Amino acid sequence: MKNKKIVVIGSSNTDMVIKSDRLPAPGETVIGHTFLMNPGGKGANQAVAAARMEGNITFVSKIGNDTFGKQSVEGYIAEGIKTDYIFTDPDQPSGVALILVDAKGENSISVASGANATLCPADIDKAKDEIETAGLVLMQLEIPMETLEYVAEIACNKGVKVILNPAPAQALSCKLLKCLYMLIPNKTETEMLSGVEVTDWESAIKAADVIGEKGVDIVVITLGAQGALIKDGRQYHRIEADPVEAVDTTAAGDTFCGALCVGLSDGMTVPESVRFACKAAAISVTRMGAQASAPYRKEINLNS
Ligand code: ADP
Repeated sequence: MKNKKIVVIGSSNTDMVIKSDRLPAPGETVIGHTFLMNPGGKGANQAVAAARMEGNITFVSKIGNDTFGKQSVEGYIAEGIKTDYIFTDPDQPSGVALILVDAKGENSISVASGANATLCPADIDKAKDEIETAGLVLMQLEIPMETLEYVAEIACNKGVKVILNPAPAQALSCKLLKCLYMLIPNKTETEMLSGVEVTDWESAIKAADVIGEKGVDIVVITLGAQGALIKDGRQYHRIEADPVEAVDTTAAGDTFCGALCVGLSDGMTVPESVRFACKAAAISVTRMGAQASAPYRKEINLNS
């Protein structure tokens, strides 16, 4: 599958990030000290992370007819991403996320989806050829479920591998799960999808088994600073995270998913791709921001 096209389908947002000593309680105002505004949205974050890993990326998304949306697309073009299938909704604003980050790197996020919520099967029809000729399709849950199921079916029918990052956590239909080549949940999403509390590697294996029984070939559970667990059929692999000092974990999972797909499309095995993804994500948590924190391929040292 070397260097095959990766089609990322998902949200495009503008993130507004404030860093302060601690997160405010309800009704409280906290004076912060740093403000950053940069393009975000799980779909866009993953597309940019994958482009910086030198993947061949097409991004399918929807924006509003406004400054935020136009700026975002300019940014994707500058990253070398194909933007021909970014649609515009004349009636909705582009998506926005307000992100608060505390001194330990913990975050709290509120999202207004805007045009992301109107990316519909009729839009996907316009990108059908692009999807059918891809090596991999990567999606998340910030666009309508009906659209995700529609894409998964189109891709599955042509034997195109579908990878889903089920974030933010939501229940998934059997129909969607059966079309997936790989599911990449974090700890919270794993617990929601499996009903198993994840406290260590053993409980992560149990949870991966429950999810695997739903028809997904490969389950990769991300476990923050611990790294990731792979369940590939009856084989399990633990990939340890690089020890780093985290300053902002926003988009760690997005960088992980983008890098993992590029690893696979470059012909790496699943464990090699997950190791590559762990290295990229570890670098991203040492930096502020969503897309701003995604590293470039030359920064990854696979020998360390
Ligand atoms: P999400 O960002 O979706 O909540 P995780 O917190 O599981 O997902 O992080 C995704 C991946 O990012 C992890 O599997 C790991 O590889 C990397 N990562 C996250 N936090 C750290 C950390 N503190 N140190 C090193 N790597 C990390």
